[in-house]
Amino acid sequence: MLIIMGLDAPRDRIEKVKAKIISFGCTPHEIPGSTKLAIGITGPTNILKEEEFRLLPSVQDVVRVTKKYKLVSRMMKQDDTIINVNGTSIGGKELLLIAGPCSVESKDQIFEIAGSLKELGIKFLRGGAYKPRSSPYAFQGLKEKGLEYLADVKKEFGLNIVTELLNTETIDAVSEVADIIQIGARNMQNFTLLEQAGKTGKPIMLKRGMSATIEDLLLSAEYIVSQNNYNIILCERGIRTFETATRNTLDLNAVPVLKKETHLPVIVDPSHGIGMWENVPNMAMASIAAGADGLMIEAHNSPEDALSDGYQSLKPKKLKTLLEKLRQLAPIMEREI
Ligand code: PEP
Ligand code: MN
Repeated sequence: MLIIMGLDAPRDRIEKVKAKIISFGCTPHEIPGSTKLAIGITGPTNILKEEEFRLLPSVQDVVRVTKKYKLVSRMMKQDDTIINVNGTSIGGKELLLIAGPCSVESKDQIFEIAGSLKELGIKFLRGGAYKPRSSPYAFQGLKEKGLEYLADVKKEFGLNIVTELLNTETIDAVSEVADIIQIGARNMQNFTLLEQAGKTGKPIMLKRGMSATIEDLLLSAEYIVSQNNYNIILCERGIRTFETATRNTLDLNAVPVLKKETHLPVIVDPSHGIGMWENVPNMAMASIAAGADGLMIEAHNSPEDALSDGYQSLKPKKLKTLLEKLRQLAPIMEREI
């Protein structure tokens, strides 16, 4: 349920509404918009009576939220959520560009790619220190050493770091280095991890699980928001279908659907989505044309030597060509790069 009040509603009246919500064992969430103040309610809302709230002073409307997801829904908050990461706005007009290798492999490797990306004007460097691999025999990441190299590269180049959080044990170490914490596809429904990551207050990029519906993804985001952390970027990265010609099936339908259903920023990872570098640029363009707020692209200076996902990684030169094309597409989509 959603209580709508004017932005000029006096504080004591807002508190009165919140106290009433709490008295029913529910939780109020203040969500200020550009024209109205919404108070979202989670918990056993079926016991609430709409009329009782309508009678309270400064309450303009009471709306039942019929979707399973509540706080992340457009119904709760009509304005786009804009996340500020060290001065860069995510979810606004400017497109978010995250690039970098699948894994941090060595100090030289991450410094080399960071230098190339910095030259291209990219402000967000991705790289996994802890890697969730389908096979236990595959490279599992450099772990603490990888985080150390990410901290060093951040200091050297002033890039924002996006890196994956695999488990609750490493939450302090990862959140110390990460400007955006990545929750990977395999952990999208690790609800304890989502709650703990939410509690850090850090921006979180939540990747869609490979067999997750759009509703599942939004419900997972709801776990993070329930910790009062609205700094969430959703990432479409391809789903499993009967098709085997590509690594995954990049579900670009999800982009306009998500943009309609939620106020959270939505980006696309075409690298994991299609799994072959030569097709990544076209799928990246298609993602922006579909209305995405940004992209995450795997990039490597020598993909042939990469310890993970080299086949889907772009060399900086190819990434540069893609950026030139994206710069032409951006104004058509009323976006900026
Ligand atoms: C990754 O970004 O390298 C990754 C492991 O992604 P996903 O969780 O989408 O498979
Ligand atoms: Mn990868």
